[in-house]
Amino acid sequence: MHRRQLAAQTQSDCLNFRIGSRQLAYARRVKHDRFGWWVEEAGSPDLLGSLDGNLSCDVAIVGGGYLGLWTAWQIKQLEPNATVVVLEAERCGFGPSGRNGGFVNCYWAKVPWLAAEFGSQAALALGRAAADSVAAIGSWCDDNSVDAWYRAAPHVEIATSAAQAGDWAEATAGCADLGLADQYYELSREQLAEVVKSPVFGAGAAMIPAATVQPARLCFGLREAVLGSGVRIFEQSRVNDFAEGEGAVVLRTAGGSVRARNAVYAINSAMAGFRKTRNSVSIGSSHIVLTEPVPDILEAIGWTGHQGLSDCRTMLHYFRTTEDHRIAFGWGGGRMGTSLWDRSVTEVDRQAVRLAAEALRRFFPALEGREITHAWGGPIDVSSTRLPQFRQIGQISTGFGFTGNGVGPSYLGGQILARMALDRRDEFTNLLLVEQRAKHFPPEPLQFVGGSAIRAAMVRSDRANDVGETPGWLTSAVASIPNRLGMHLPR
Ligand SMILES: Cc1cc2nc3c(=O)[nH]c(=O)nc-3n(C[C@H](O)[C@H](O)[C@H](O)COP(=O)(O)OP(=O)(O)OC[C@H]3O[C@@H](n4cnc5c(N)ncnc54)[C@H](O)[C@@H]3O)c2cc1C
Repeated sequence: MHRRQLAAQTQSDCLNFRIGSRQLAYARRVKHDRFGWWVEEAGSPDLLGSLDGNLSCDVAIVGGGYLGLWTAWQIKQLEPNATVVVLEAERCGFGPSGRNGGFVNCYWAKVPWLAAEFGSQAALALGRAAADSVAAIGSWCDDNSVDAWYRAAPHVEIATSAAQAGDWAEATAGCADLGLADQYYELSREQLAEVVKSPVFGAGAAMIPAATVQPARLCFGLREAVLGSGVRIFEQSRVNDFAEGEGAVVLRTAGGSVRARNAVYAINSAMAGFRKTRNSVSIGSSHIVLTEPVPDILEAIGWTGHQGLSDCRTMLHYFRTTEDHRIAFGWGGGRMGTSLWDRSVTEVDRQAVRLAAEALRRFFPALEGREITHAWGGPIDVSSTRLPQFRQIGQISTGFGFTGNGVGPSYLGGQILARMALDRRDEFTNLLLVEQRAKHFPPEPLQFVGGSAIRAAMVRSDRANDVGETPGWLTSAVASIPNRLGMHLPR
């Protein structure tokens, strides 16, 4: 997409937030669009040409977000002579990879239940591989001179209501039993106040390794590095169709086709409409608001260590600081999407942004009178296990289902998909995420209708808990349907 077209798509939005109990109304010009502040801050690199004609290669990758680009990078590390083509529908980094919260997290909190289900050896292998990815992204940025604002600091989960108190206890105890007491551990209220102060914060838990990044800088830097490694990237080249047979896959765009030995699909929530993975992915959404620089407030509340923070709601809030001392505050409870039609509300949603802004000001009342300058959002590819899944179906390898935790794990996903695409098998392709047996979501439109009702119940339940009320029985019953079916919607 050309700059002029992009500018036309970017609308300034006037949001009327109401702050706190005094219902002080004010209107501000908030730049609310699909792309968000990260892309603006990073400055978009020049558009690459689209596919025009027919060509052949060893591996063709569909999707130029983190997953597709890390896969391309890893293929060139494993087989420098392999010919690799990336086909990106829009522009690399303009999807969720360039506009997420920038939390680089691992899986320790999930390892105890994975150990109970699959044995501690397999669970620990996955936990270690995900933890290694967090550190590897930092090293990669150093090695490739990519200034993605990578800042290593513990990720801290916080109870912000009585209902959330001790939410982590089972998992921290399980990690201690597995010898991981120094990777995921409880923080008392007093210890937490040394990280950040807020009138609504109780105790919490900290997890390492973790980091924050400027997501668009990381994605644009990765794109440059991948190009430099000899991979051909075509932007504005949506793959509309594929055909398999005679030892090759042919991918077709409006401008041409790519014939490859193997193909990789790394298209995030669009996997919900891909016929090989239909009903394996459900589409949620997440939305972020960003304050003006508030260095004095960060200093006053002691939040100067780059820690990524989140609460323990079902539809969680996540929040972090930026290099220029803003607060980016996200909410994972946006409305559902569907593969049946375009749902632009998964990208630009005034209601979700207003709720995020309300929570921001409840957590940090000192922000009263300070401006929110930007808002944005994007779709979330939810899997029924809340862990990504990697599958080889014929000559096509796929990865999807990061469920809101894809920045760190997509590095690992690239290591897995690169091996699949090169027909190699090793410890990465033996990880629990590969060829998982996972529950399916119901077919559309039931998935959208049922998912929306369950989401609404979860939002009501979280809001009741926030103010110390018990959610009604019907709300609780509907909100717990996924758990009772052995599935999970976004947190
Ligand atoms: C608001 C928000 C906040 C988030 N915060 C965090 C966070 O703090 N930490 C975290 O770990 N995760 C977070 N996530 C999730 C994270 O952004 C994703 O898991 C991750 O970016 C997934 O990368 P990807 O490459 O799979 O997908 P994407 O970045 O979506 O890339 C997929 C690409 O495929 C392209 N594509 C789609 N269809 C086609 C087609 N037919 N042909 C060609 N190309 C196609 C798209 O244009 C897109 O560029 C957040 C997500 C959102 C929306």
